[in-house]
Amino acid sequence: MGRKSATCSFMVVKILWNLLDLLYDVSYFIYKSADTLKWDALLIYIVYAVGKRSGMKMFRKFLADHFPYLADENEDWRKWATKQIELLGGAKWQPTRLYGRTKRSRKRAAKNSTTSSTLSQPVTARGSQQRRKTMDELTVVIDAGHGGKDTGAISCTKKLEKDFNLSVALKVAERFKSIPEVKVILTRSTDVFIKLTDRSKIANEAKADAFISIHANSFFKSSQGTQTYYTNVISKDFATMFHPYVLKATCFKDGKVNKKSLSVTRKTKMPAILLEPGFLSNPKEEAVLMTEEFQDTFAEAIVQGSCAFFGVTYNVSTANPGLTPITTVIGTEKLPDPGYIKEGISWVPARSVLTILGALWTFQDKQVVLSGTPLDTLLIDNTAYIKARDLVPAGVGVFYEPSLENAKAVLLYPPKQEGAI
Ligand SMILES: [Zn+2]
Repeated sequence: MGRKSATCSFMVVKILWNLLDLLYDVSYFIYKSADTLKWDALLIYIVYAVGKRSGMKMFRKFLADHFPYLADENEDWRKWATKQIELLGGAKWQPTRLYGRTKRSRKRAAKNSTTSSTLSQPVTARGSQQRRKTMDELTVVIDAGHGGKDTGAISCTKKLEKDFNLSVALKVAERFKSIPEVKVILTRSTDVFIKLTDRSKIANEAKADAFISIHANSFFKSSQGTQTYYTNVISKDFATMFHPYVLKATCFKDGKVNKKSLSVTRKTKMPAILLEPGFLSNPKEEAVLMTEEFQDTFAEAIVQGSCAFFGVTYNVSTANPGLTPITTVIGTEKLPDPGYIKEGISWVPARSVLTILGALWTFQDKQVVLSGTPLDTLLIDNTAYIKARDLVPAGVGVFYEPSLENAKAVLLYPPKQEGAI
C-alpha cells in the first residue's frame, strides 16, 4: 500500500514536472520570438515540445497521423517555424524533403528510409548522390510566359515576348528528352492563353520538383541585364544556384537574384523561379535575344542549371560520342559550360568565350565569324564551339592543363593590349 502510494505520488510529481518544463519551454519560445511570433508556428512548437517528451518516433507518427498537411513543407511560415524550432535546439526535427516528389519515389524513399539519420541532417547538406537514390523521377515544369491574346512585352523591333518564351521553352523540353531522370511538363507548347493561376496549378497538381518560368524583360531602352526572380523562401537556394548558369549564357550585365511577389513563383509549392534573361526594350539585347543561337544557349543553360539542382548528371558528350569534356578557363574565370576535346583538338563554347574576350563576332551560316574571318565551327546540340587554337592569331594565349594529350582544362589568356581581338 505504502509503496503504491509512493509510486503514485512519484508519477504525479513527474507529470507536474513535465508540465512545468513544457510551460517553461513554450513561454521561452514565445519570449524568444515575440517580435515575429506566428500562431501557426507556436502550435507547431507546442506539438514539438510535447513530442520531444514522448520520443521522436512517436512524435513523427503523431504528426503524420493528425497533421497530414504538414507533409507539405512549402509555405513560408512553416520554413520559418522550422527555423524557430531549430534555434531553440530542436534541430533534430527538419523537413523531410526540400521539394516535392512523385508518389512513387516517396513510397520508395519511405521504404529505404533511414529516418532519424536523414532527418537530422540539414537538407541542403545532402549530397546529390543521396538525392538521386531516393528520387527515381524528377519533374520540372517549364512555363513559357504569356501566350495567345497576352503578347507579353513588345520588343523595340515589334517582336513579341510570348514567341521568345515559347521558342526557348520548346528548346528546353527537346533537350530534356536525352535525360531520362527528368520529366518535363510544359504549361503551354503552342501559342495559347493560360491564366497565371492555372500555371501554378499545373505544377502543384503534378507535384513538380521545380518550376521555371521563362520571360524576357522590357522597360527603358537603356535597361539591361539578366535577372532571376523568386518569391518563396524555399526557392531562394534554387534561384541562387541557377542564376550563374543563365548569366553565363546571356553574357549580359548581372541583374542579380531578386525576391519579388509574382503569381507563378508565389503560388507554386516547389522551388520556383522566373527568368528574365534580358531586355526586349534594349536594341542591343533584343538583337541577341532574338537569335536562334542565343535561344539555344539559353535553353542549354536552363537544362544544365536544372540538372545541377537535381543532382542529375548532364553531359552533352553522352549524346555525342567521341567528345571528352574539358574545363574552359579564361584568365582565372572558370566557365560553367565545358569545352570538348574531339580527335585531339580542343573546342571551346563560342558565345561565352568570345563575349568574355570582348571580341567582335557574328554567327552566319552555322559558322562563327570572328573579325570578318569564318572559323571552323562545331555544333553540339545547337551550341557553337570553336577551336581554342583559332584564337591564337587574335592574340589569345592558349595553354593546357596538364598537357594537350591528357588535358583536363584549357586555359585562355586575353591579349595584353586592349582591343586586340
Ligand atoms: Zn513576361
